[in-house]
Amino acid sequence: MTTQSTTPPGTFDARKVKQDFPILQQTIHGKPLTYLDSAASSQKPSVVIEALDAYYRASNANIHRGVYWLSERATALYDEAREKVARFINAPDARSCVFVRNATEALNLVAYSWGRANLGPGDTVVLTLLEHHSNIVPWQIITAERGATIRYVDIDDDGRLRLDQLDHYLRTERVKLVGVTHVANALGTINPVAEIAARAHAAGALVLVDGAQSVPHMPVDVQALDIDFLVFSGHKMLGPMGIGVLWGRREILEAMPPFLGGGDMIREVTTCGSTWADLPAKFEAGTPSVGDAVGLGAAIDYLTALGMDAVRAHEREIVAYALERLAQVPGITLYGPTGEDRAGVVSFTLDDIHPHDIASILDSEGVAIRAGHHCAQPLMDRLGVVATARASFYVYNSEEDVDRLADALQTVRRIFG
Ligand code: PLP
Repeated sequence: MTTQSTTPPGTFDARKVKQDFPILQQTIHGKPLTYLDSAASSQKPSVVIEALDAYYRASNANIHRGVYWLSERATALYDEAREKVARFINAPDARSCVFVRNATEALNLVAYSWGRANLGPGDTVVLTLLEHHSNIVPWQIITAERGATIRYVDIDDDGRLRLDQLDHYLRTERVKLVGVTHVANALGTINPVAEIAARAHAAGALVLVDGAQSVPHMPVDVQALDIDFLVFSGHKMLGPMGIGVLWGRREILEAMPPFLGGGDMIREVTTCGSTWADLPAKFEAGTPSVGDAVGLGAAIDYLTALGMDAVRAHEREIVAYALERLAQVPGITLYGPTGEDRAGVVSFTLDDIHPHDIASILDSEGVAIRAGHHCAQPLMDRLGVVATARASFYVYNSEEDVDRLADALQTVRRIFG
């Protein structure tokens, strides 16, 4: 593993962590803010805000092309941020970590570049019903263009993937790629990615892992998982919006054509054509979000100091407490698995009260949760609901936040009689 816990088990102090987040110190509608929407976007600790501030005050310039001090300094900070990303996910080579805007852009990059070059009639891409739209729609576009097919692995009643279906598709179709989310954003299911990768590789397929909900919350080691692509977003892991990462196996990225063309991604341009820069520049056309990369580096430092094992242990404890506490709310239906393979996300419905009504009443109590389809409409269809309410937890949430949520749900029940 790339990160070591600096906190002995059971001593993670979420209330102390919360003090590092200025935004969480305010009251909303006269109530203390209880932020339970980190699966959508996390809040930022002071060190990240200060890193952004310091970058723009002292180091900002366009990178690579400048020969002057500031440009060299900005370039060095950008490269350093990439090194931090590589260490965080145990990538063998920082050049295989491509900075993009977010997980969505990374998934589109793989679909448009790898997919367009490698998929054709008779080929299959296997996805799952747990995917976020970001890992569905780009594949729908590319498979339609290339005449390939998509198959979706179903879930069982607990929200776990039906690996027998995966095996079936791997056995009976020409599967070129398996795209799977590491942690399901709507249900919290932690998928057995290493096992899925082993099965897919045995059938000759590549494995793309959507780490948007796992990289922020648990140790993720691309070598131990033995996967081919990993994508994630900085804003869900205490970093700024506007920066994300695609990691890919070096030889695969090297063989892929560019996604976007323009400045920085070329070796040479003539009126007869162009040649491409080496990795990672080949996939980073145009001026990158240097300041946001620096902010992501600061977020990685912060998470590494907490220890990713400790982060995961804390979330395991808080989700267990939440499942127990929320189960006592009359009329509640909780979705997703209840075992060790459950991350810090709890989706629920309450009688026939619309999730949007639940969320707005909770808001009046200072409790911020998300309601809707969570960009997972195929999953909602499978569950037979149009929407759920979703509370999601992170390093700054404690049992007190769960209690506030549970108490506010009683208010919802009182209002709806
Ligand atoms: N994948 C998963 C599992 C997600 O939860 C999300 C966002 O919620 C995304 C992809 C897309 O992330 P972004 O909007 O940062 O591109």
